[in-house]
Amino acid sequence: MRRETFSVRRRHTAENLLTPLIQARSFTAVNSETPLAELSRQLLEHQKLTWPQLTTGYASLATVRLREIRCRGFSVWLQFNPGRIVSTGAKVDAQSIRERRCFLCVENLPEPQKGIVYKDEFLILCNPAPIFAEHFTISNIRHIPQVLAPYIPTMLDLARDLSPRLTVFYNGPKCGASAPDHMHFQANPTGVIPVELSAREESRRMFRRSIDSVDILTLQDFGRQVIVLESRQKENLVTVLTNLTEALRQTMGVSEEPMMNVLCSFSGEEWRVILFPRSKHRPDVFFKEGAERIVISPAAVDIGGLIVTPLEKDFKTVDASRVESIFQEVSLPPADLDKTILQLS
Ligand SMILES: [Zn+2]
Repeated sequence: MRRETFSVRRRHTAENLLTPLIQARSFTAVNSETPLAELSRQLLEHQKLTWPQLTTGYASLATVRLREIRCRGFSVWLQFNPGRIVSTGAKVDAQSIRERRCFLCVENLPEPQKGIVYKDEFLILCNPAPIFAEHFTISNIRHIPQVLAPYIPTMLDLARDLSPRLTVFYNGPKCGASAPDHMHFQANPTGVIPVELSAREESRRMFRRSIDSVDILTLQDFGRQVIVLESRQKENLVTVLTNLTEALRQTMGVSEEPMMNVLCSFSGEEWRVILFPRSKHRPDVFFKEGAERIVISPAAVDIGGLIVTPLEKDFKTVDASRVESIFQEVSLPPADLDKTILQLS
């Protein structure tokens, strides 16, 4: 029963609520019982044939190169992906954001782009600059700011409905979201971002606490701070994750959402949330001039261990010590994480 299909939900509610603009964009299944993950795959295959920009994006993805870097205690992969320069190098300051046309607003989507309406509130769209063999952007149908707290239940539902093949991830508005003014998640094949495998390694998992059947763990020898929450109880997980973001906000001494990247997956009736608390978005080397500049802009994928380098120079020259120093520079200090976990109620 848990796996309701999108189409079943939509039959009950969406028709009357959605604007003609969104209805015109809606991609639906021939078979109303099609699970959401399968429907998403069908959307992707359809869009590769009907949306030239996406065809080009996936052709570009086929040419990316990978290189493994062994750091102290962990490994990462570099992905040389020139197609990501727009996103990785994106200007995300308030003025630049104000002055550009929002690329996630329904009225601004390219004419051939279609999406799957989810819970009458989000559109599952294909990302035209893919990092993964299946890469989706799940954007709110309204132009509202990127903030996680009100959408934690949606994130958990999405992860369940897209399981077992896809993982949902979230980038905070100041640490990786290239549209910080428009609420969105992304989704990618489960297990491709290395942290998802690391989070299953017994030798790495450090149990810290359990609150209302939500297990709280950290990962050791990982070169950056990460909190893992695991639970079968959705409501309890929503509460603990909400309290965790609030505790992080207090630790960081900020009034807005604490900087964080979050991955969420669902397997064996259990959710796993992986949260990277961040002290800063881009490392100092991102802002250097000329040859000293390194175009690495860590978001969930990168801090998760798949570092996208749009420039070949960076792909060839970045080494273990550079990765370690960037991770350390942009992560919350370990003592602050320990304090946050202890304070959690
Ligand atoms: Zn927008």
